[in-house]
Amino acid sequence: MTTSPMAQLVPSYAQGQWWTPAGDPAGTQVLDANTGELLARVNSDGLDLAGMVNYGRTVGQRELGKLSLHERALVLKELAQYLNARREELYALSFQTGATKIDSMVDIDGGIGVLFTYSSKGRRELPNSNVILDGPMEVLSKDGSFAGEHIYTRIPGVAAQINAFNFPVWGMLEKFAPAFIAGVPTIAKPATPTGYVAEAAVRLMVESGLLPEGSLQLISGSARTLLDELDYRDVLAFTGSASTANSLKAHVNVVEGGVRFTCETDSLNAAILGPDAVPGTPEFDAFVKSMVTEMTVKAGQKCTAIRRAIVPQGMVPDVVAAVGARLDARIVVGDPRAEGVTMGALASLEQLRDVRGAVEEMIAAGGELAYGTLDAPVVRSTSGEDSVVDAGAFMSPLLLTWDDVRNQAVHGLEAFGPVSSVIGYADLDEAIELAAMGSGSLVATVCTNDGETARVLTTGIAAHHGRVHMLNRETARSSTGHGSPVPHLVHGGPGRAGGGEELGGIRAVKHHMQRTAIQGSPNLLTAVTGVWHTGADRVIAGAAEFGAVEGAIHPFRKSLAELNIGDAFASPLRRVSLEEITAFAHETGDTFYAHVDNAAAEANPFFPGIVAHGYLLVSWAAGLFVQPAPGPVLANYGLENLRFITPVPAGDSIRVTLTAKKITPRVTDEYGEVAWDAVINNQDGEIVATYDVLTLVEKEDVTYKN
Ligand code: NDP
Repeated sequence: MTTSPMAQLVPSYAQGQWWTPAGDPAGTQVLDANTGELLARVNSDGLDLAGMVNYGRTVGQRELGKLSLHERALVLKELAQYLNARREELYALSFQTGATKIDSMVDIDGGIGVLFTYSSKGRRELPNSNVILDGPMEVLSKDGSFAGEHIYTRIPGVAAQINAFNFPVWGMLEKFAPAFIAGVPTIAKPATPTGYVAEAAVRLMVESGLLPEGSLQLISGSARTLLDELDYRDVLAFTGSASTANSLKAHVNVVEGGVRFTCETDSLNAAILGPDAVPGTPEFDAFVKSMVTEMTVKAGQKCTAIRRAIVPQGMVPDVVAAVGARLDARIVVGDPRAEGVTMGALASLEQLRDVRGAVEEMIAAGGELAYGTLDAPVVRSTSGEDSVVDAGAFMSPLLLTWDDVRNQAVHGLEAFGPVSSVIGYADLDEAIELAAMGSGSLVATVCTNDGETARVLTTGIAAHHGRVHMLNRETARSSTGHGSPVPHLVHGGPGRAGGGEELGGIRAVKHHMQRTAIQGSPNLLTAVTGVWHTGADRVIAGAAEFGAVEGAIHPFRKSLAELNIGDAFASPLRRVSLEEITAFAHETGDTFYAHVDNAAAEANPFFPGIVAHGYLLVSWAAGLFVQPAPGPVLANYGLENLRFITPVPAGDSIRVTLTAKKITPRVTDEYGEVAWDAVINNQDGEIVATYDVLTLVEKEDVTYKN
């Protein structure tokens, strides 16, 4: 092993400062995975973990709380752009972890992509406030004066995130992004062997100047006592081995102190080949390709990699031969910086030792090596020479077969490297049973072009998995792949996989929030949530007979600067005639009998005779509430939750009441969204229809000044 002047201590970022231990003590050595060169040392002795947690809970919470959900989401986009422009710095470091260019893209670009995705989902799907409503209001008293509902608000502590070594950037950002949007400060703890890449990413994020103070802290080195500092206010998300997860889960602060603990651990993911996917079909080819990708990307060090290929009994030799042929044709093992290399080293010599040990155990238990060798492989170096590099953590891809498909070793032992097994099944029931023997996994692929096979297999294994990826000729090119969790969908899995859902769209944001039932009057529910609730006070313009206040301005004439929730408009009554219903039917072609044939309509239990079209009523309502002159309302972009409740026969009258319910200023635009609660009533006050009208309204009344 050579020493290098770069072998400095990797700093932590604590309480707004970069920190290394005083006196430059020794630390755990971190080596280049390809060459064994000493890259850095890691030592967190003396790091004030209690101070970091306290800093997050105080400064971090305060500074993040100054922004709304949308404003924080926008910061993520700006961070992503900043990192995107500086990716090369991270790539240079990533190669030293044994990662190829493609591996590094998965980690670095993938991580940046998570920030972009969360940014846009956060701004599209969440309110621009700090309270998220969960479900509709439940009226709890006869007169409507007492009601209840659920809200989400952020948890008051920190999000401690302990990450695995395999994806130092993506693994960190996938947890940071939802915590940040929620408004919860992160304390990231990357794994020692690759933590220097995470440190570089954090350094860039800090340098960007975009992070609110205290929103991100970093522990470089061990964090064995971090849990001692956490309590029910905090969340701890862990990715790594099941044994570490189990010891953390048993910590008194989790068991008794209420720390919200989730984990993502080992997973013996399966890929099932359908009986229809015989050699020569596009499905067979896609399956083989997927196997090789999953075995070799990140040298198989992926929590989602395929460990068990479950294929029709008679096809085991075909699959082994085809996977072997593709590995021979495509895979060149070596230093990722060398020309032509397609699979790099494992992350460390310890990891290499662990993987070899697991494979030896599998062979001792009955597995047979069907492809590859346990000997150190010949690898390509940057000089272009092919030789065995003892100091590098290289190994050959390995494929095992099993006579006993129920052998516990194939379903229970995880070799966290370029290792997979092929086992045969007799029928679909057995395929499901074998997949379930993984005792809970992150992901499984179902590869078939037969809808019924897909249905039986997917529904059969779904409850054992966090994600099921269906592969056929239609998705072979477009699929993001078996092993690529996407930020939109659940990443996690039951049982052995840990039970966590750290990633998965907006639910991951809510994972950092507390759901609370709140009860009170519609006025107080409105005040707390910022969303107008039926029964709460309003300022009504329009028809005096329906509650309008004299002098009140039609809310469509107000910009967001002037508009308040509860600003409303009540129209006068409008009579419905048979001639109008008939004309609408013929004009639109909607001559459904209930609108044109009185006898047929009367026979229908829902109608008293000919009734007005629902769409006619909604159109009339628009005519009743419209303010035709140009003004701050720029566009109507849709309706939501439209329900027709009471039929309207000719001779009845209708009126509409429109109330500003939810106002969402857009952080990037000069306008915002206003959702209006619309209720159409008949002359007796019965509810005819309810819906939300969605409009875009200027923040300031500038385009067509009122
Ligand atoms: P570990 O469980 O040893 O380490 C994972 C993380 O936990 C590291 O950051 C580690 O820090 C930290 N850690 C370990 N012990 C403690 C503790 N007592 N308190 C606080 N933090 C702790 O996993 P490995 O690195 O050995 O990874 C190997 C296994 O993890 C793989 O074989 C695989 O099964 C699993 N894994 C699962 C992944 C998934 O996404 N599901 C991804 C990657 C790995 P430090 O490095 O400083 O020890």
